[in-house]
Order: sequence, then structure tokens, then C-alpha cells
Amino acid sequence: MKYTTDRPTVGAVIVCAGRGERTGLPYNKVLHMLGHKTVLEHVLDTFTDHGVSHITAVVSPADRERIAEIVSAYNGVSVVDGGATRAQSVVNGLKACRCDIVVIHDGARPFVTKELIMRAVSSAIEHGSGIAAVPTVDTVKRMGTDKVVHSLPRAELFNMQTPQAFDYAQILEAYERVGTDGVTDDAEAYERAGYSPRLVDGSYDNIKITTATDLLRLSQNNKIGVGYDVHRLVEGRPLILGGVRIEHEKGLLGHSDADVLTHAVMDALLSAAGLPDIGVLFPDTDDRFDGISSLKLLKEVLNKLRERELEIVNVSAVAIAQKPKLSPVIKDIRASLAAALETDNARVNVSATTTEGLGIVGNGDAIAATASCILSERTEK
Ligand code: MG
Repeated sequence: MKYTTDRPTVGAVIVCAGRGERTGLPYNKVLHMLGHKTVLEHVLDTFTDHGVSHITAVVSPADRERIAEIVSAYNGVSVVDGGATRAQSVVNGLKACRCDIVVIHDGARPFVTKELIMRAVSSAIEHGSGIAAVPTVDTVKRMGTDKVVHSLPRAELFNMQTPQAFDYAQILEAYERVGTDGVTDDAEAYERAGYSPRLVDGSYDNIKITTATDLLRLSQNNKIGVGYDVHRLVEGRPLILGGVRIEHEKGLLGHSDADVLTHAVMDALLSAAGLPDIGVLFPDTDDRFDGISSLKLLKEVLNKLRERELEIVNVSAVAIAQKPKLSPVIKDIRASLAAALETDNARVNVSATTTEGLGIVGNGDAIAATASCILSERTEK
């Protein structure tokens, strides 16, 4: 095989034009959040990390704007419109991409690895194609109208996945020659054009997100956490909630700045991470924490999460106070906590309630807070 340089250029076509009806999502499944980023970003991170020189994402017009926004964060990724079928979308992507070797990949397969991409590319450099495939696990039967007419020999069967890498000129020419009618994967067009697709070892982890069950299984990397705290209100102390100083005749009593809301948030994060609570991590017998801003302690908690590769999906906190009225400052508190957590405002929410005058909060002697959160474990290999 002849290439323009000693090292063939490798491009990729990422197919994102599906609608994902079988997932039951009201939006394209490549835009589904998987942990801290979209399914598509998982794919793009792996491909750009591999050193693919140019990536073309094929999209449906309805998603063009959102996907263009996502890919703008990457170098060398562009967006083109898809066609009526997957195969037509691939052809559009191929025409927009010039390279020696092209890797075609489903945008809804976020668990592709660098190693798998390299296996497919190496095979395509040597043999013209490299198709990720796994041996079929289930027995497959051909059906007539209402009964089985034939059982297929399982040992001969393989499930095709992506990535599928090809000699660029060959796959483009194959599609031009055989068309796209009834073509459900690129190896099929290649085969119909008279080539022999070469299989490489795929992975059973390299799933294509297809159904609602797939999404449910993926969400099991999430961990929920809950935290609660209460501090006494006294005269002569500043009132600080979520790192925001609030005008009030009283403030919260405590060893640190007594920011009860931030304390509840920290305990929620630590509980989701399976770590000891703030009473253990930052004991009030330790002088280092005397008068300290609770946002500094929150940073330490954030570092502990990072060490464990845990990302914040969302945090939801409730301040429970009879006085002062918190609605005028709730936006500031939310922004302050989001900034301290180094995440978007959209991932942090804060609300406020009273106790209708009941109990120690209701009589103005204390402020309480509760928080819950979801953390996700990184899924990258
Ligand atoms: Mg506390």
C-alpha cells in the first residue's frame, strides 16, 4: 500500500447523527452526561489522545449547534451534516475528511480505548482494514414468519463493533461503487465492493449505548452523599453561609467560621466518597482550624475527591433559617459554592426554608443546613 508520507495520516469520522429513540431520551444519546462529561466528549478525548490528525463529527441538523459548541474545545475537529441513514452519514463524513487511513466510529461508544483504535489502525495500514469485533455470545437463529427456520453455527459468528479502520481511498471508492442501501456497517460496504474485511479483537466493554437499560447500567458509577449540620446563632459573630457574608445582628458560633451550609456540603461530599466526616478530618481541638474560612476546608475536601478520581455530578443544599431572609442572597451563595467547588453553577443548587417558628431554628437560636450530592467515578480506561 502506498501512502503520501512514510507515516500515513490518520483521520476519523465519528457518527453522531442518530436520534436514540430506543434510549427513550428526549435528546441525542451522544449528548447524555456520563459522569462529568458527555458521551461524545469521552469519545473525542480518547481519539484526540491517540493523535488522530483530523476528526469529522457527522451530526443531524437538530444537534449541529450543540455539538459544534462541544467540538470547539478540541483542535482539528469539525462538524458536517449527516444523511438519512447511518451509511449516508458516513459517506458525508468521508468526503469531508482527507487522510491515508480513516477510522469510523460510533459516537455512542464511549468506552473505546486507545489500544483498540491502534489495533484497528495498525491492521488497516498492513491489510487495508481493521474491524473491531467480538465473538457472538448468544445463539443466533433465523426466523420465518412465526418459527425458527435455521440455527446459525455460533462458533463462526462475530458481532461487529466500531472502530472500523480502512484505507481511506478504498472505503470511499467502495461506498461510491456499492451505494448505501441496506448497509448497516462500513465493513459490509467494503465487503460488497469485493474486499475482505480484516477483524481485530474488539471488547465486550466497548458497548454502543442503545437502550434505556444501557443508560441505567452506566449510572451505577454514581455515588450519592448526604450531610447535615446545625450551629448556634450568637451576637458578636459574622454570619457566613456558603462563603458569603450576610448582614444580620447575629452570627454562627463555632471553631471555624461556622459556615453551617458549607459544612453540610462537605459532609455530603465526604459521605459519597466513603470518607470520614469533617468532625474527624478537621477536629475542633486542632488550632489550625481556629477561625478558618470553611471554603478553605472545602478545597481540601475537593482535593480528596480528585485524588480518588471522583467528579461532582451535582450538589443540592438547603439552608434552614428563620432569620435573616435568605432569598436575596441565595444566588450569591450558589455562585460562591460553585466557584469553590470549581464547577458550573448548573451543578450546584441552594435553597432556603424556615421551620415556621418551630424549635431552635424557629426561635432564632440556630441555623441548620442539609446537603446531598452525586459523585461519579471516572470511567476512562
Ligand atoms: Mg459544623
